[in-house]
Amino acid sequence: MAHALVVGGGIAGDTLALLMERDGWTVTVAEIAPALRTGGQTVDLRGDSREVLERAGLLRQALDRLIPQRGAAWIDARGRRLAEMPVEAFDGRGYVSREELSRTDLARILHEAAGPGVTHRFGETVDALEDTGTGVLARFRGGMEEEFDLVVGADGAHSRVRALRFGPKARYRRPLGLAHAWFTLTERAGTPPLDGWFLIHNAPGRRGVSARPGHAGEQEIGLTFAADTLPPRRDREARFALLERTFADVGWRTAEFLDAARQADDFALDTFDQVHVPRWHAGRTVLLGDSAWCASPLSGLGTALALRGAAELAAALRAVGAPADTAGVPSALAAFERTMRPRATSARQLPPGRVASMAPKSALGIRANALAMRALQSKAARPLVHRALAGTEHGRTADRGA
Ligand SMILES: Cc1cc2nc3c(=O)[nH]c(=O)nc-3n(C[C@H](O)[C@H](O)[C@H](O)COP(=O)(O)OP(=O)(O)OC[C@H]3O[C@@H](n4cnc5c(N)ncnc54)[C@H](O)[C@@H]3O)c2cc1C
Repeated sequence: MAHALVVGGGIAGDTLALLMERDGWTVTVAEIAPALRTGGQTVDLRGDSREVLERAGLLRQALDRLIPQRGAAWIDARGRRLAEMPVEAFDGRGYVSREELSRTDLARILHEAAGPGVTHRFGETVDALEDTGTGVLARFRGGMEEEFDLVVGADGAHSRVRALRFGPKARYRRPLGLAHAWFTLTERAGTPPLDGWFLIHNAPGRRGVSARPGHAGEQEIGLTFAADTLPPRRDREARFALLERTFADVGWRTAEFLDAARQADDFALDTFDQVHVPRWHAGRTVLLGDSAWCASPLSGLGTALALRGAAELAAALRAVGAPADTAGVPSALAAFERTMRPRATSARQLPPGRVASMAPKSALGIRANALAMRALQSKAARPLVHRALAGTEHGRTADRGA
């Protein structure tokens, strides 16, 4: 039976695994984390995400896990509102939508939908990949060697498959000048409730702090700041010290968040990068999701593209008669790239001023941002905004950081 290796059990990898299994593939997913990686902010169910989940028969489950949200509000250091945008703004097509679920819930839904033809190997990755002519020989970190008909690198923006087959990360990474920490805060007695509002506080010097509603008893926290590089992942203390230095004087609930970050078991910190790889496939190996085209969380399209990419790759393989006949796998990978590349390229084109509006430099910029949020919702601006929105209906990852 045709056997595929998917490296990375995130949104792209787990979606692909379940779709391929339904077509008759046997799929091994090698995920470096010791268990399913949860965490992250919310995923918008408009556009591509909705369509792919619906076709996979998983939309109902996703809709059952929606997070009750009332909108987004920009606040000052004392928590006073500078501007707000309710979910009803722009006929429900504004900054925050009614139809958002947490990335954690989406990851669980996809993971649990896999059938017996999908095997997850947690705590595992690949150390070498070698073309054999008819397949790819993978050497796993655990020591095992195995040949596959297809290898998919769905291992995120820092992809190991990309490094092994296409060259080092530095060649493909385009930092956007911002970094972002995120984690889940568990509410305790005295935690200020969000009441359904995604609250965003910007401070001068490109610093942003946000809290958005999660499921009962949880708030999803984000801290955004200017940085192109970070202390190494293994040096947790240096990472926390950097955050504490950067956000020391920011006000609002920042001190509480810095304290909670150290206790959170899903704490993550990364730079906002884009990934540009000129060719995603080589022989029977292909990149999928952030490893191939990361548009960055600033695009709001990461998860939608991951879902769409998985669906397109599964369809391209089906179109060449795989898994019954795997001879056409290399041409399926080329066809997949032809279909997905224009979408990925367009998603990476961030609107002008995106970084500046996400993390304004000065107090004046922060005020101007709030004014713009209010002005956009005015009667006079409505026709313009509707026209602009009509062109961006792919569907988005709802995380916009702080
Ligand atoms: C925990 C987490 C939280 C996130 N939160 C947000 C968010 O709040 N907002 C946002 O816009 N985007 C977030 N993202 C990124 C978002 O999920 C992706 O942009 C999008 O869904 C594309 O998915 P992907 O599957 O390509 O990458 P990812 O979702 O990043 O998944 C990649 C998977 O590969 C695994 N992996 C990494 N290296 C290896 C390796 N060497 N071997 C094997 N496995 C490996 C990772 O552990 C992960 O499970 C988050 C990603 C993760 C993993």
